[in-house]
Amino acid sequence: MVAAANEVDNLASRIDISRYSSYDKLLKVTARVLAIYERRNLRGATKVLTAEDIVQAELFWIKECQKPLMTTLKDDKKTFDKLYAKLCPKVRDDGVMVVGARAERHVHFSHNRQEVPLLPYHHKFSKLYATHVHNRAHPGVQTTVSKIRSRYWIVNLYKMAKSIRHHCVPCRRHEKDMAGQQMGKLPLERLKPSPPWTYVGVDPFGPYTIRGEVNKRARGKAYGVVFNCFSTRAVHVDVAVDYSTSGFLQVLRRFVSLRGYPAEMYSDGGSQLAAASRELKLAVDGWDQNRLQEFGITDGMTWKFSMADSPWQNGVTETLIKGIKKAINHAIGDQILPFHELQTVF
Ligand SMILES: [Zn+2]
Repeated sequence: MVAAANEVDNLASRIDISRYSSYDKLLKVTARVLAIYERRNLRGATKVLTAEDIVQAELFWIKECQKPLMTTLKDDKKTFDKLYAKLCPKVRDDGVMVVGARAERHVHFSHNRQEVPLLPYHHKFSKLYATHVHNRAHPGVQTTVSKIRSRYWIVNLYKMAKSIRHHCVPCRRHEKDMAGQQMGKLPLERLKPSPPWTYVGVDPFGPYTIRGEVNKRARGKAYGVVFNCFSTRAVHVDVAVDYSTSGFLQVLRRFVSLRGYPAEMYSDGGSQLAAASRELKLAVDGWDQNRLQEFGITDGMTWKFSMADSPWQNGVTETLIKGIKKAINHAIGDQILPFHELQTVF
């Protein structure tokens, strides 16, 4: 019996937790090792693991990392109390030290009030579990902490969660991206509840070749214009008859007569238009901005021309336009339509 106990003791050092960087992997390997140990033959290695096996593997490591706590409790009650008394830990029948039930004043659980095992800060198992929880969705420190607390009480968990986040490559990359973006570009208006078409982005795309209404051989170029409402994501599509400023203003007039005047109209410079040809980009840059600025001024509409790129917007518009183009191409195919027919398609 003593020999058997020693063998279990040795399992931990044989598995050697320091070699693992994944909580899942550790538990699976441990479950297999325990299965081999229990059956006393290698068939355990090919066993299909069950949830219960994983629970046993977890229990194995909980007890393993509580060993120093247990030793302190037994040999140096004073130190133990100094460190942990406020958590009111108790040892469960199965030998696991838990906190929770009697310590509600100090132990604020996120969503359940059951007892959870107490884990020390300095054990790889605690860190593997905390990292495992963090890596699921890379949330902030507070969220990581409360998720972990529904399962384990790790000493100094805040410090651990902060450190994990600080050393996490995806989190750092994400933070860097966020810092690189000019967050001032994100109009807060967009996030406030507002009536539809209050904050609107406008993006030209295309062009489309059209034929003359009278002279059927004449060719011209029209382009599409997509308006999208920032708060509701509603979309309005129209087509402009030519590259001129007045051609674009006609589209605007049709838009406001249907949807009303937005409070703010956002538009990008030609070079930022993801779905416009070079030609159209140049045309957009050639527009008379003063005439555009004046448009709608008496109806409370302000133009916002963004000069730098606005990454919060581009992806959305790009996807939107892609879908619109596909639908239009399906409808017209190779035909070259006169303007009024193209407008009908739009
Ligand atoms: Zn992360």
